[in-house]
Amino acid sequence: AQSQQGNSAVIYTENLSVNERERLALETQLSQALDRGEFELFYQAQCDLNTRRLSGFEALLRWRHPDGLIPPDRFIPIAEESGLIVPIGRWVLHQACRQAKTWHDAGRDRPVMAVNISPRQFQHPEFMATVREALRDSGVDPCCIELEITEGAMMDDAESTIAKMAELRALGLHLAIDDFGTGYSSLAYLKRFPIDRLKIDRSFVRDLGRDEEGAAIVQALIQLAHSLGMTVVAEGVEDSHQEACLRDWRCDLMQGFGYARPLPEPGASALLEAHRAE
Ligand code: C2E
Ligand code: CA
Ligand code: CA
Ligand code: CA
Repeated sequence: AQSQQGNSAVIYTENLSVNERERLALETQLSQALDRGEFELFYQAQCDLNTRRLSGFEALLRWRHPDGLIPPDRFIPIAEESGLIVPIGRWVLHQACRQAKTWHDAGRDRPVMAVNISPRQFQHPEFMATVREALRDSGVDPCCIELEITEGAMMDDAESTIAKMAELRALGLHLAIDDFGTGYSSLAYLKRFPIDRLKIDRSFVRDLGRDEEGAAIVQALIQLAHSLGMTVVAEGVEDSHQEACLRDWRCDLMQGFGYARPLPEPGASALLEAHRAE
């Protein structure tokens, strides 16, 4: 037993260093991925819960690494820690604004484009300039762009966060708080931020049918958001039971595999066209 324990300890350290080496390799490749044109945006539709009409899309980043598609959960944390998220996030913002403009020009309705902004990106001194530039270059109507910010980005310095949010809204943009309920912000804190929309995290939606507590939490989140004047999007809606509950509880919008998966640009454009033809 002794020597077995010893062995597993050795294997464990070796694994760690393998992970660390993999991580470093990934970071190097990540720093070249922009220049190599390996990033792509997928788009996941959001719809109105009452009418089931398409209302917008969330832009979701994909990395076409030479060895295959790498999911954001594997590279966004590395990009965030290394600071690479700043240039990558700038590319995302430009690309998403351009795509929104293309869609607006092709039809009469104007689907909203929601863009994820990481905490490091939000706090970067150049962030406001980047946003202005993306709006100017694309010519998109700012009120159709929604920035998704997590609670993590709001924790550092409330006053400067509020000031920056006010500046973004003065440009005409909308703000959503993403993954709500998974961070540490207090409810009293929430009301101080000029936020238009709250996104209920997928974990709460998953538990909504499990027991009375799960249902009570989602209902309370919807009521809270509405009482603060925000609209509510439920994330990760996969089945009609979840959808029916959310509709009953007056949730505004939903997003999830039950309506549409994240799609590459041609698929998302086709979905939008089909919706427009209805
Ligand atoms: P998120 O912002 O919470 O995005 C929603 C995630 O939930 C997406 O994963 C989406 O594919 C997934 N999802 C949507 N509906 C369902 C469903 O019904 N069931 C299940 N099981 N999953 C669903 P994805 O695309 O892998 O992105 C993961 C995370 O990576 C995102 O979570 C976001 O935090 C981050 N991310 C993605 N793109 C960007 C980006 O451009 N910038 C930044 N900073 N972060 C990004
Ligand atoms: Ca998001
Ligand atoms: Ca989310
Ligand atoms: Ca989430």
